Amino acid sequence: MSRRSCLKALGAAGCTVLSVGAGKAHAARNFSGWPDRFGMLVDLTECVGCRGCEAACNRANGLPAPEVPFDEKSVFEEKRRPTASAFTVVNRYSPKDGPRGPVYRKVQCNHCNEPGCASACPVRAYTKTPEGAVLYDKELCFGCRYCMVACPFYAPAYDYGSALDPRIEKCTFCHERVKAGGIPACAEACPVEAVRFGRRKDLITLARERIRKHPGRYVDRVFGEHEVGGTGWLYLSGVPFEQVDFPTDLPDKPLVEQTKGFLSAVPLVLVLWPAVLGLCYSAKRYKEEER
Ligand code: SF4
Ligand code: SF4
Repeated sequence: MSRRSCLKALGAAGCTVLSVGAGKAHAARNFSGWPDRFGMLVDLTECVGCRGCEAACNRANGLPAPEVPFDEKSVFEEKRRPTASAFTVVNRYSPKDGPRGPVYRKVQCNHCNEPGCASACPVRAYTKTPEGAVLYDKELCFGCRYCMVACPFYAPAYDYGSALDPRIEKCTFCHERVKAGGIPACAEACPVEAVRFGRRKDLITLARERIRKHPGRYVDRVFGEHEVGGTGWLYLSGVPFEQVDFPTDLPDKPLVEQTKGFLSAVPLVLVLWPAVLGLCYSAKRYKEEER
């Protein structure tokens, strides 16, 4: 088992133990989802790397001005991950297979059907909404960062500027806009419709249709349809997904299920640690409420 797999399992393991101690079946929560929930389809063969989605996300979320302006392409010289001040980033690849020229990949929280972050969080700071967004409540968070370890897509970012007030930042799927009948800012801004918003089930149909009609253009896979129980964000690609840094070794089962067999192999102190943290936090909050 790799170090990362081990850490992932530990995050969920801690959650499970805490849940038992608290008399609540947290890890067994049902994230089976809502049939009409929304999703996004990102077509890597369409993206031109303009970073318009990054700029739109920045504006919609009132984030700080970027260190490198959004029209500057030098950012593509290194691979980036979402941060507390950039909930989505676009990376450039030169894969050995597929068409000549660069391939661009937009990265953000994928709003999993059964989110590893939610399963790992000892205080239930994450919620999968009926609309499809996975939202985070900073009022509940006590900064253990198990969600960061449990996420298979490295999406949650810790705001290190808020040490006394722990805070995770990530894409919200523009939840308020969606609830008001709008569409997420990145999809609205994309000039080539490489990012498409819609009902997840319709997007899967659309993606399958594109693959069927253009078998030479796409690899025969919709990333996110099944991985870790399925994700709200889905991807089409013209090159093998591993060549653009997708984690292609993920299981189809939700990550919380993957940890069941692992629990018995983890030293007890490691399994208990997140539970201890969670209980300390609960005690602290209880005392505060008593005052
Ligand atoms: S991508 Fe990561 S942060 Fe987003 S819902 Fe899935 S596990 Fe949670
Ligand atoms: S706005 Fe569209 S084309 Fe531009 S980088 Fe984002 S996904 Fe690609």
